[in-house]
Amino acid sequence: MKESNLINKLAIDGGIPVRDKMLPYGRQSLDKKDIEAVVNVLQSDWLTTGPKVGEFEAAFADSVGVEEAVVVNSGTAALHAAMYVIGISSGDEVILPAITFVATANCVLYQGGIPIFADVYPDTMLIDVTKIESKITSKTKAIIAVDYAGHPCDYDALRDICDKYGLILVSDACHSLGATYKERRVGSLADVTTFSFHPVKIITSGEGGMITCSNPDYARKMRTFRNHGITTDHRQRALEGAYLYNMEYLGFNYRLSDFQCALGMSQLYKLPSIILDRQLIAQKYDEYFAQINGVSPLNLLNNVTHAYHLYVVKLDLEYITMNRTDVFAALRSENIGVNVHYLPVYQHPFYQNNTLMLDVVCPIAELEYQKLLSIPIFPSMSDKDVEDVVVAFKKVLDSYNN
Ligand SMILES: *Cc1c(COP(=O)(O)O)cnc(C)c1O
Repeated sequence: MKESNLINKLAIDGGIPVRDKMLPYGRQSLDKKDIEAVVNVLQSDWLTTGPKVGEFEAAFADSVGVEEAVVVNSGTAALHAAMYVIGISSGDEVILPAITFVATANCVLYQGGIPIFADVYPDTMLIDVTKIESKITSKTKAIIAVDYAGHPCDYDALRDICDKYGLILVSDACHSLGATYKERRVGSLADVTTFSFHPVKIITSGEGGMITCSNPDYARKMRTFRNHGITTDHRQRALEGAYLYNMEYLGFNYRLSDFQCALGMSQLYKLPSIILDRQLIAQKYDEYFAQINGVSPLNLLNNVTHAYHLYVVKLDLEYITMNRTDVFAALRSENIGVNVHYLPVYQHPFYQNNTLMLDVVCPIAELEYQKLLSIPIFPSMSDKDVEDVVVAFKKVLDSYNN
């Protein structure tokens, strides 16, 4: 066989893959300063509940422009703390988009509440604000907006609905740290906002999460919640020479260690350059994908800046002869680490087993989900990496078109 045939032949059919090694869809970018920050704490007196906790919180609050930031050990813990502090309890309903990570819905269940799924816009996969009011009942307490992929939701419209019905607005901004909506920073747009520092997210502390708000009472309660519901922490008691502590609420151990806070803080200093790197890669993708048939990027509205935790494309299933699962497998064989975000939450087996979910249907989410692919994006990607993704898409879609 001639060399050119081997290159055109899909790797999944035995051809030569576009890349030798898998390009992941996301990965952390750590530098020497990050490592030094962690090592310094490892050599200090406090591995957890030390000075870095408050320093990271203050730096984070300042960076998003709010009064309060409370650090916890995951984005999921941040969501749980948010549901706790806004008072979600047995039977309360919370409206959220059908397309999100499961944790956005699970946190409602942790508090005994009921997640109510709303459909999404097909061009952005964000919660469709026109589909919310019909879901509101006397039990509705809050809305959780999810900034899917890093694109902020329509916060003015969401705020209007919350004001009209007396609801609390929560933002799951695990994808959108560093993004803005009408020149206002994500983290300052809702009553309570949650972030994740998992390694694939915008900045990382290994595992970790943060809640931002402008309500000091909320912040105090969440700091207690992350420490078993105990009102003082170990270091405060050591400094005061006290032994007695009071547990006022039923809390959890959601504390983040000091060396992780040091890593998070070191990463936070680089947030503007991380966002810029992601936006530049996205721009290149935008230009390339405008010229490839059978696939198109999600829409970007013009009153926001996008954080690009994910770069998501939609397959045109009428143009190509294969389904998303086939395209996914073919791209993976080319060593392009594509992924899918997300199956509508209520379609997971756990939710399907719950009788409350039997009647849930979000037709746009179910239809558009079939077309979604998340493609590699992370700050240290080279131009060559971006080109490899595009070349692999062309190769696969050209062989699968009608
Ligand atoms: C990552 C993520 C979470 C959970 O964060 P963890 O830090 O992994 O617990 C919650 N919601 C969304 C939308 C996420 O992407």
